Amino acid sequence: MELVVEDAVFVTMAAEAEPGAGMLIRDGRIADIGPAGAVRAAAPGAEVVRLGGATVIPGLIDAHCHVTDIGYLAAAADCSQPAAPDIAAIQARLREAAERTPDGSWVTGGGYAEYKLREGRHPTRAELDQAVPGRPAVLYHTSLHACVLNGAALREAGFADGQPDPAGGAFGRDGQGRLDGVVYEAPMFALFAQNLHRDIARMGAGADGGLIQAAGQRLAALGLTAACDADMRRDTFAAFAEADAGGLLSQRIYGLVVHDQVGAVRPGRHSGQLATEAVKIWADGGMSSRTAAIHGTYPVPPHGSGILYFERDELTEMVRDFDARGWQVCIHAQGDRAIETVLDAYAAVLAPGAGNPRRHRIEHGGAMYPPLAARAAALGIVVASQPGFLSTLGDGFAAAFPDTGDQLYSFASWQRAGITVAGSSDAPVITADPLIGIRDAILRRTGDGRLLGPAEGLSARDALALYTTRAAFACHREGEIGSLEPGKLADFVVLDKNPLEAEPEQIPGIAVLATVLGGTPVHQAADIFPGR
Ligand SMILES: [Zn+2]
Repeated sequence: MELVVEDAVFVTMAAEAEPGAGMLIRDGRIADIGPAGAVRAAAPGAEVVRLGGATVIPGLIDAHCHVTDIGYLAAAADCSQPAAPDIAAIQARLREAAERTPDGSWVTGGGYAEYKLREGRHPTRAELDQAVPGRPAVLYHTSLHACVLNGAALREAGFADGQPDPAGGAFGRDGQGRLDGVVYEAPMFALFAQNLHRDIARMGAGADGGLIQAAGQRLAALGLTAACDADMRRDTFAAFAEADAGGLLSQRIYGLVVHDQVGAVRPGRHSGQLATEAVKIWADGGMSSRTAAIHGTYPVPPHGSGILYFERDELTEMVRDFDARGWQVCIHAQGDRAIETVLDAYAAVLAPGAGNPRRHRIEHGGAMYPPLAARAAALGIVVASQPGFLSTLGDGFAAAFPDTGDQLYSFASWQRAGITVAGSSDAPVITADPLIGIRDAILRRTGDGRLLGPAEGLSARDALALYTTRAAFACHREGEIGSLEPGKLADFVVLDKNPLEAEPEQIPGIAVLATVLGGTPVHQAADIFPGR
């Protein structure tokens, strides 16, 4: 099978100068890229697809997201605004969802924001009971930091009137102090995980039409050809493996196996599209919930210093053990106190002068201030971070970090320090759209229009590199993906405009015309590759 793609602008992201306007694909790999005439001459019998001046970039890579969660929410009733402008519309969508939800699973909706609803408030348990009486129903807030439960779901979750707020979370209550159905933070996270894993067990997650395939199609439509799943467990790995065997994966999945599940998931490269070579550890809480472990205290609720899950010695022993067994270690660390602890652990384990051969990572790295960044650079630590947080969560960061907000996610400083930074979304916490991340890495504008650390903006090319060459490096795949070069896999995206020449503001509006994985289209908005 030979295919020539031409009449396009090729943004190769290769280290050398950009070549010409033709690319030859043979057996799923890039066989040649260069002047169109030379490429055609190299394969006189090849099929030729002319792209009408569109732009071809390397397949985009999300170095940290939650693929199964994306699939789980993709199957839920869309209760987002403006699609569902008021509570009556949400009720109608939940009623429809109830008809197609199998017994034993909870009726599920997602995507609402109370401040966008006509009523300007969360729906209540009573309103969910009107739509879905007699069986459990859950409606997730778009932030995934809150949800609403109906009466049956409250009962099944074991939540009752008069019960105090649980640790790390809260219940909404009506005027008489009864539960109104809204659940915030920690108990919401636990419910989400329980519901997800129950549905994985019941609903053929890895089968045709299952949630793994649904997630893959969503990501392919955004131009993503590879993703690190930052929450791989026994059951989700089994679902990925089933989908892989059935040819249903639309991305190359690089699993970060949750540390206490390592015994339950085989390590290694299982196929060209599924690998589990990394382990995931959480060092602290989150930025938007103000539970990231910091020095000092937050000036906003809950007013603490955040949560550190492991003391330095315990974390060091875990890192030492996984490193010795050949795993790449990826540690969630957001606050400066957590990042310091993680760097202490890495420094204790990595042999002086030997660099960081397993490419141990910090996930997020929000408050990695200059002295910490210098240490990370000296140790060769890779950072998987989320530029898209800036526009979606940035105003909350500015409130929580009034003195150091400009130093959060300081991509330009990290790059100057010599750190390899990989781009990612943490979806479904925010959208998985990498074009939004690229825009935010350049502009750093929050939802309210504030510039958070304007000096930390990247060039468009460096912003694109986060999601291509650098993300490939972060998963040990730079020899295979991340740039368009002869010998590499034919993973690429066809865009209607060149993101390196667009106004940064316009980048999220660039259309993904096609996403191609190993020479095979996995998404086509137009019939670009006829018959494929
Ligand atoms: Zn995450």
